[in-house]
Amino acid sequence: LLRSLLNKKAPLQLGRMCYSSSSVPTTKLFIDGKFVESNTSEWLDVHNPATNEVVGRVPKATQEEMLAAADSCSRAFHSWSETSILSRQQIFLRYQQLIKDNIKELAKIITLEQGKTLADAEGDVFRGLQVVEHACSITSLMLGETLPSITKDMDTYTYRLPIGVCAGIAPFNFPAMIPLWMFPIGMVCGNTYLMKPSERVPGCTMLLAKLLQDAGAPDGTLNIIHGQHAAVNFICDHPSIKAISFVGSNQAGEYIYERGSKNGKRVQSNMGAKNHGVVMPDANKENTINQLVGAAFGAAGQRCMALSTAIFVGESREWLPELVERSKSLRVNAGDQPGADVGPLISPEAKARVEFLIQSGVDEGAKLLLDGRNVNVKGYENGNFVGPTILGNVKPDMKCYREEIFGPVLVVLEADSLDDAISLINSNPYGNGTAIFTTNGATARKYTHEVDVGQVSFAAVSILSQYENKVPIFPPDHEMSLERPDFLY
Ligand code: NAD
Repeated sequence: LLRSLLNKKAPLQLGRMCYSSSSVPTTKLFIDGKFVESNTSEWLDVHNPATNEVVGRVPKATQEEMLAAADSCSRAFHSWSETSILSRQQIFLRYQQLIKDNIKELAKIITLEQGKTLADAEGDVFRGLQVVEHACSITSLMLGETLPSITKDMDTYTYRLPIGVCAGIAPFNFPAMIPLWMFPIGMVCGNTYLMKPSERVPGCTMLLAKLLQDAGAPDGTLNIIHGQHAAVNFICDHPSIKAISFVGSNQAGEYIYERGSKNGKRVQSNMGAKNHGVVMPDANKENTINQLVGAAFGAAGQRCMALSTAIFVGESREWLPELVERSKSLRVNAGDQPGADVGPLISPEAKARVEFLIQSGVDEGAKLLLDGRNVNVKGYENGNFVGPTILGNVKPDMKCYREEIFGPVLVVLEADSLDDAISLINSNPYGNGTAIFTTNGATARKYTHEVDVGQVSFAAVSILSQYENKVPIFPPDHEMSLERPDFLY
């Protein structure tokens, strides 16, 4: 279905084609069921992180265009919220199939604009697909509750009802999964949705919108605007928007939470992280080292669930040389290259920031056990690559420990006991996820009860590598060329 929509005349292959400024494809807006060119005079470049070549441009939508998108959502809400749940469910049942059918197309756009390996990109789509599959259970998820005879001659009934127009503001690191956390759940409940994808990776959301339209979503139920601060402010301020889902950095999330909630909206802000893994001496060494390497360096560490901090307890610290050796074996390369394990960072600025934080660790007394700076990726010398890096002897007051690095850097601390490790983690302001590596059930139980972090994983397997498709259901085909579906631009 999708292939018939693709204009194959001008294939764009990752790292192999450069556009002159006048021929760079532009990203459309999606307003009232139509993919439309923006009238704006302000555009942002979209780069391939493996080469830094410009592969597209994304508009900063004008005020008029954003108003048109919000109005479209408002108009569509009445009929969409009155559509039977079974009809909405049918659309999402078709949608999940279309995503499965197009997983490789989606992965190619992700690798092109975001840089992650094709295997990681398929994992990104796959995790989002699971949310769409969950949305298909809406017939039981939206059930209300009743309590007969709450008082004499009185019963209570609770209904779950849509609230109106909802909006999503997404980050760059999971171009499929995170938008798919947002609009499918909102829409299947009967809300209409205004999406603002990350301006760095807009292509995947556009293809997801096309597939949703093909699945039968009526015009106006999903609208897409592009931009940065002005688009975010528009979402925080527009009176028709009742709720905002944000995923991204603390700086943006705190701002959006404050501005949106001041305007009476429900706002959820999912923000930055510093995830700790505790390594106990009784853990399975082989498994622990494999898990640490995958969770710290997978997707170049650009995951909110990256395990970026390891605490070695007692004699487990003797495993560090093996951890370093295993990390050295990872292949740093462009995401579409066969065998690539670690792709580039999103931008030269992100690379410079990661390198700065590595150096700050060295300057403050950390031991550079593995240095991924100055990695040479043949054929991709202009890419934003940093290889796996391990900083040992890190102390809690160091900048590299206090800040989210968001790159392929593992900082290593040591503790004498589990209690010391737990108190260190509980003193850290971040707390997205954590893991303990142990084969002792009592240790695992103590950890899950005492550590103050939202998601806890224990035993030999870590949830911190959950976004990876360890046994790919859709094995990546590294022979394919990366092309952008031109109809989106
Ligand atoms: P980001 O905050 O820079 O951007 C996210 C969105 O906010 C984008 O759409 C962007 O246009 C907008 N934005 C950026 N700066 C803004 C500002 N100052 N004011 C208003 N809006 C702004 O985040 P990113 O760099 O795209 O993503 C990486 C961050 O996201 C990391 O901190 C990572 O931990 C976090 N993240 C968190 C989760 C989670 O579930 N907690 C998941 C994925 C990523």
